[in-house]
Amino acid sequence: MDAPGVEVVRPLMVFGYDDAPHGHAETAFTNVRLGDDALLWKEGHGFALAQNRLGPGRLHHCARLVGHSERALRETVRRGTLRQAFGKSLLDLGGNEERLARCRVALNQARLTVLTAAAELDLRDHHPGSKLRPKALEALAVCKIATPRAAEECLDLAVQIHGGGGLSSDHPLAAMWAAARTLRLVDGPDEVHLRTLAKMERKREKKALQVHPGVGNPRL
Ligand SMILES: Cc1cc2nc3c(=O)[nH]c(=O)nc-3n(C[C@H](O)[C@H](O)[C@H](O)COP(=O)(O)OP(=O)(O)OC[C@H]3O[C@@H](n4cnc5c(N)ncnc54)[C@H](O)[C@@H]3O)c2cc1C
Repeated sequence: MDAPGVEVVRPLMVFGYDDAPHGHAETAFTNVRLGDDALLWKEGHGFALAQNRLGPGRLHHCARLVGHSERALRETVRRGTLRQAFGKSLLDLGGNEERLARCRVALNQARLTVLTAAAELDLRDHHPGSKLRPKALEALAVCKIATPRAAEECLDLAVQIHGGGGLSSDHPLAAMWAAARTLRLVDGPDEVHLRTLAKMERKREKKALQVHPGVGNPRL
């Protein structure tokens, strides 16, 4: 960051939050030159290193969202039980109980995708330049898609059950919702991970057809 030509132009807000002190910033690189001592590994392997960092990075984002979602469901039950409207607890009104149960289903499913991805990552060779195995890549893509969606569902219900307060900064819910929504974009938008998954699926089937050419015959 101290090298000549590196300039932090301005801090950026994410959904109105500044994420200080780590934050996000517009950064300009103008004719930046670094010495050999700045090499983290072998020359020409920067992309591989970045990919290796992104795998566990995606997983930790998703694990954090599982925690946020658990908190959201707890807060939903607390307020949904204590707050009375029309003579009943909020959870006993208008399908809220069923929404709560559906959130639990989504969250447990998402947690399993996180655990699966973590187990696949644990199996990898920890050499800095070693590529992630296809199974790990697949599991990471699945958890990167599934978890923010489940978290959004849980946080959306929690915000709604908290009424106006849920939108305010008196509660952490709005910030947690913003984090879940952000994760559908950062570290690769959903569409790119979906594309990866579809490619893997098609590649697998293509291989199966080569081994058993009769299978998938369009006349059958
Ligand atoms: C707060 C924040 C933090 C970030 N942190 C990181 C980080 O730590 N590491 C990192 O690597 N990146 C990070 N990013 C970058 C993030 O991964 C990119 O913003 C994201 O990949 C989208 O790229 P883009 O912004 O250039 O938009 P574009 O490339 O213009 O994409 C815009 C939209 O186009 C659509 N799209 C793109 N590709 C396809 C496709 N193949 N098929 C269908 N639709 C498609 C998607 O809906 C996508 O959201 C961060 C971004 C933000 C905002």
